[in-house]
Amino acid sequence: VPRPLRGDEISACVHRVALSRGAPEPVGPPPDSPEQARRRREADQHRRATLARLGQSHAAAVVARGEEATREALDAGRELVLSPSPLYDRDGERVAVVQALVRVGRNDSGFAYAPLLVKNAEVVEAAATRRILRGDLARPWPSEAAYAEGLGTRGSPSVVRAGLALAHATRVLESRGLADPLRRGALVDRHGTLYWVELDGDAYPRFSLSTYDRLAEERHGVIEAHRRWSAGEASFPTSPYWHRQCPECPYVTLCESHLEAGDDVSLTRFTSFDQQVLLREHGIATRAALAALDPARARAARNRVLRPEGESRPEDHLGRAIDKLDELIFRARAHVAGSPLRVRAREETGCERADVEVDVDMESYHDRTYLWGALVTTGRDVDGVDAGFRSFVEWDDLDEASEARVFRDFWRWFSQVEAATRSAGASFAAYCFWAQAEDSAMNRAVGRPLEGGPTRADLDAFRARARWVDLHEVARRQIQTEGPAGLKVLASAAGFNWRDPTPSGEASMTWFEEARGPAGSPEARRRLLEYNEDDCRATRALREWLNGPARDLASRDEPGAPPRPR
Ligand code: SF4
Repeated sequence: VPRPLRGDEISACVHRVALSRGAPEPVGPPPDSPEQARRRREADQHRRATLARLGQSHAAAVVARGEEATREALDAGRELVLSPSPLYDRDGERVAVVQALVRVGRNDSGFAYAPLLVKNAEVVEAAATRRILRGDLARPWPSEAAYAEGLGTRGSPSVVRAGLALAHATRVLESRGLADPLRRGALVDRHGTLYWVELDGDAYPRFSLSTYDRLAEERHGVIEAHRRWSAGEASFPTSPYWHRQCPECPYVTLCESHLEAGDDVSLTRFTSFDQQVLLREHGIATRAALAALDPARARAARNRVLRPEGESRPEDHLGRAIDKLDELIFRARAHVAGSPLRVRAREETGCERADVEVDVDMESYHDRTYLWGALVTTGRDVDGVDAGFRSFVEWDDLDEASEARVFRDFWRWFSQVEAATRSAGASFAAYCFWAQAEDSAMNRAVGRPLEGGPTRADLDAFRARARWVDLHEVARRQIQTEGPAGLKVLASAAGFNWRDPTPSGEASMTWFEEARGPAGSPEARRRLLEYNEDDCRATRALREWLNGPARDLASRDEPGAPPRPR
């Protein structure tokens, strides 16, 4: 008997739906990512804490331990059923897991329940023309909620996934005669705010019941085709294609090796499924074939008149159908070349220099910055300016005041370096990678200025007078990579190596959890300080590379010698 369809499979890749019911070859262990483990741990904690709050706030709440207790609670019409056992539909084809069931009234056959899910994520965003029914944990019933104007659900994968899981649970409840006649579901966000969504109709098209039904039908079809494959009656029903879910999927090793072996065109980063289908339909099945297309012809395709009798090439058709096909071609070329490519002319590649250069980087944890680091490089001697790395850190408290304190100390030192440079008649420039992050951390830190600390006016004056260079912007305009143009990719291309074997912003969150507090791990602190210093050294290495070896990279406008498409 095939395993029933789960709510979290409705938005999952169909190949995963099939593989998880039996793969045609042995599957290696899933990727072991500390970041995924951390996210799971935090989501579990949030779920437990939210359920505890719901339980404490409502005398009528019942924790349903096991299948029998769940059935009894639902038959008795308990107002709030927490942690119910997995619910199966009448046919045993679907199973729904929810954090709670909220009694919302009665239907034709008895008590009616709405599913409630707890997510450790933002659920809503500002949306001028929309509104959403907002409630809270103290009164988790739709009749107690009120519309919040100017808010709508986010379109993020986690919200869509959660919405589809609510729709799934609703269909399961329907099949058991327990569904809310108005088909509502509740989502609790990371702040503990509860939102009600109506799943019928088109208020939430990404996870309405009709969207759900279409996706569920497709997956039931895959499960049936998989059953036939298991019985030896058909070939395996699905095949892999690279997309955003792959990096965190347990089957990534298996799928990636298959796709790499065939140089599959889906491996071209940031291609959508529809684009991949179009490319294949025009004979462009590999990255090499994509790299061989003419980007100029692809760009011109939108204005070209296609004549039925005239000679045409794939670029003429694909360029009309795929927005920015030229960028896909350039990414494929960077892959084929095995190295980043130059976007601009040789002499236009580079990054501005100064007598005193300061590479800046900060580390944050959940929107609070605890560490500012800076690397000073001097091209000439300046009184009061020492070359080398400095850091300013707070391990114990992490709140608005400590964030402001660390930044004040950093800013005093930084301003003094800048002032000394200027009074010596030397030039000054500061660099960071992705200035949006540094700028918003700075702005936040001066939100409530400290005595003797910088103000927002000080920051604005600095930005107006100084050269504050966003290296991400500089590199993005000059260097073509095959995927994201992040610091790790670019500095590695420049030959820079981090001391830590697994450096990443996400990993640093886990290290900070070990490093914080009076009994924080010295090893985790050392790791963070080195990581921050290495990020500063990486931006310097990137600048030096842009001003030197990057000028000798091949141009992305030169096709190289990949094979022509068949
Ligand atoms: S690795 Fe990608 S293609 Fe393979 S099953 Fe997972 S999500 Fe699907």
